[in-house]
Amino acid sequence: MPTKVLGKKMLLGGKWVNRDEEIVVRDPQDNSVISTVPKASREDMLFAIEKAKEGAEKAAAMPVHERMRILNETANYVDWHQETFVTTIAREGSKTINEARGEVARCIETLRLSAEEARRINGETIPFDQMPGHENRIGYYYRFPIGVIGAITPFNDPLNLVAHKVGPAVASGNAIIIKPSSLTPISALLLAEAFMKAGLPDNVLTVVTGSGSDIGNTMVTHPAINMVTFTGGLETGKQIAHQAGLKKMSMELGSNSPVIVLKDADIEEAARACVSGAFSAAGQNCIGVQRIYVEKPVYQMFQERIIGKAKDYSVGDKQLVTTDMGPLINEKEAKRVEACVEEARQKGANVLTGGRREGAYYLPTILSNVPENCIISHEEIFGPVVLLEPVENLDEAIEKANDVEFGLQAGIFTKNVDAAFNAARRLEIGGLMINDSSDYRIDGMPFGGVKGSGLGREGVKFAIEDMTEPKVIQLNLRKA
Ligand code: NAD
Repeated sequence: MPTKVLGKKMLLGGKWVNRDEEIVVRDPQDNSVISTVPKASREDMLFAIEKAKEGAEKAAAMPVHERMRILNETANYVDWHQETFVTTIAREGSKTINEARGEVARCIETLRLSAEEARRINGETIPFDQMPGHENRIGYYYRFPIGVIGAITPFNDPLNLVAHKVGPAVASGNAIIIKPSSLTPISALLLAEAFMKAGLPDNVLTVVTGSGSDIGNTMVTHPAINMVTFTGGLETGKQIAHQAGLKKMSMELGSNSPVIVLKDADIEEAARACVSGAFSAAGQNCIGVQRIYVEKPVYQMFQERIIGKAKDYSVGDKQLVTTDMGPLINEKEAKRVEACVEEARQKGANVLTGGRREGAYYLPTILSNVPENCIISHEEIFGPVVLLEPVENLDEAIEKANDVEFGLQAGIFTKNVDAAFNAARRLEIGGLMINDSSDYRIDGMPFGGVKGSGLGREGVKFAIEDMTEPKVIQLNLRKA
């Protein structure tokens, strides 16, 4: 069945518009053309920002009940049109149909959470009389919207990561301009359609499709953009932070997440969770498992189990419900992953399974004995490759887990509560999953990392905090 997609238009100035220059959107599985979207110019972005200033005034004036209504109706629209969203994600992106279905369900959850959180944007009274001489003062602070938010999103969760920016922005009374990934822009356009159908006023949401380095740069450097929220790779994030200068910023960047397996762990369960954590979305997942440290007494058993499960992982047509893993986002990315594995192999690593590319596909790959000077040992692979390493004890595992530039999430498998909490205290990360892999998230939890994994947290409530500022109101009462 042909996939129904919105087509070529972007949402600019409250209207759906075309441009002569276009970006071709392809299905990574067979390179077939799905659609084209406009390639916006710098002038388009400048126009979007001007109009978003009008949108910000409308958004801030919208009562909370109206924001909630719009968010709930948008969620309903996505729910009723699930199949369109699911097939779009599974065509423009590299997720399987099952993974796409999971992402749509999470998008609905993110929008409903945004509606709920809108009514909880509270302030506090301030006890001014804590300072001698201030006994006659009373007051409070409330949180006001920051204004116009510039958002840039990656290809790997093309719907829910957009919802994680638009939902909180609408809930908190801001205008937002989305620059989605040029590889997967259609899901973002479909979501914008849902918001417009729900009655979101013009220019509160704008979706401008185009090149990141071109219009993305125009957006982040513009003085009328009050906050930049970016999800993507470390190098792009650094560039944007450098260009944007003194602006509020949220950075959700990459990682090469570690998992620790201790000798008392349920090895079967650990192997199962690590395979799914390493290879879901073809490893293109910011919290995907990349490094596994296993205590020596159980290393051999764990290695055998995880190899067996990786071999059983079904790779193929992403539209089939029986497929576990589809292609990478394009052949260029698959070749980059192949080159990283090749480098490790040449430096002495063992390829225990996988290590083979076919077009944009790369087989689930497990490496051992990977020297420290390999790219794959310290950078983000963002592909279906995982490294195994035996360790003497928890201390060694923690030291190795921390010895990288990233710190998003980690996992530990153990029945020893002391060991688990020891790891929780010492691991340099934004979240530890005990008896699960690093690849665990719900949309209402604070999500983000330390070090090169980013600044700030998403997870609706936490994004709303970033998208608002406290304003103090103080009243100097005359003595009665
Ligand atoms: P990317 O950094 O290549 O691109 C992300 C976005 O930035 C795209 O929309 C792109 O067009 C835009 N862009 C590129 N150069 C730009 C520039 N100079 N100025 C402004 N915008 C620019 O990332 P990607 O390949 O799309 O996504 C993969 C990365 O995203 C991985 O590193 C992954 O870990 C990370 N990621 C992080 C999270 C998180 O929540 N922490 C979630 C998903 C993905």
